[in-house]
Amino acid sequence: MNLEEETKFLIKKYNISANKNLGQNFLIDEQVVENIIEAAKISQEDVVIEIGPGLGTLTSKLLEKAKKVIAIELDNKMINILKDRFSLYKNFTLLNEDVLKINFDKLINEQNIEQNAIKIVANLPYYITTPIIMKLLEEKVPAQNITVMVQKEVADRLTAIPGEKETGAITYCVYYYCEPKKVMVVPNTSFIPAPKVNSEVISLNLRKKAPVQLKDEKRFFQIIKASFMQRRKTLINGLANSGIASKEKIKEILISMGLSENIRGENLSIEQFAEIANKL
Ligand code: SAM
Repeated sequence: MNLEEETKFLIKKYNISANKNLGQNFLIDEQVVENIIEAAKISQEDVVIEIGPGLGTLTSKLLEKAKKVIAIELDNKMINILKDRFSLYKNFTLLNEDVLKINFDKLINEQNIEQNAIKIVANLPYYITTPIIMKLLEEKVPAQNITVMVQKEVADRLTAIPGEKETGAITYCVYYYCEPKKVMVVPNTSFIPAPKVNSEVISLNLRKKAPVQLKDEKRFFQIIKASFMQRRKTLINGLANSGIASKEKIKEILISMGLSENIRGENLSIEQFAEIANKL
């Protein structure tokens, strides 16, 4: 049976339909599965945390390759299928939880995982792609890499160079913590049901050293988020409206950096944002 036949078989056997509200688009392309595993560089030493295993397409391959797989799935129907399929695997742990509510510190402690052995793999539910990635990065989950399938358009934003085209606040966050890399574009026909848009696999390799030195990380991200919240406004107005600092103070800093007082946040490099944050 190929992956498409297997997926249709499971859908029929368990009499389920994909739940759009949970972003369920099941992967049916063998080559994409192979490429995800290869990009994540999974070895027998690795503990993989899989987010949203669904019917278990990626899970099945991950269980063959990794020392341990911890899968986090919200949908009870999927949980029943995953238990049926994989409960005999000794290296499989299944959590019926909302990934956004997981306490990763606690999970890693409870599961006795060595910090540098973690890799995160997922065909992400698209309705919460950004919150999931922000959570993993801001909570500093000690992973080596995060290899995920996301919407093509989101992949562009996650892998852009800060200050260039296609950026958002998350571009700076990803770039600060990771070296992002595009792996492959995936057409919508590689899923059942086919989503409206194309997708892309990306790999985020966690940096050992941050690309800029910050006095206060929290303040840095607060400034970036505030300037993108009102991205049509100038940086001065955006930051002043969010109560971060007075217009005069921000203007003074921009002038000291040789920047125009009309500049927008999206035109600033990560180094420039760092300098502003450090000066504030
Ligand atoms: N990994 C499977 C595959 O590649 O075929 C399914 C991927 S599907 C795009 C996303 C999966 O995430 C679904 O199984 C869905 O039920 C699950 N999911 C949605 N919201 C979730 C949440 N908040 N926490 C954990 N899993 C969630």
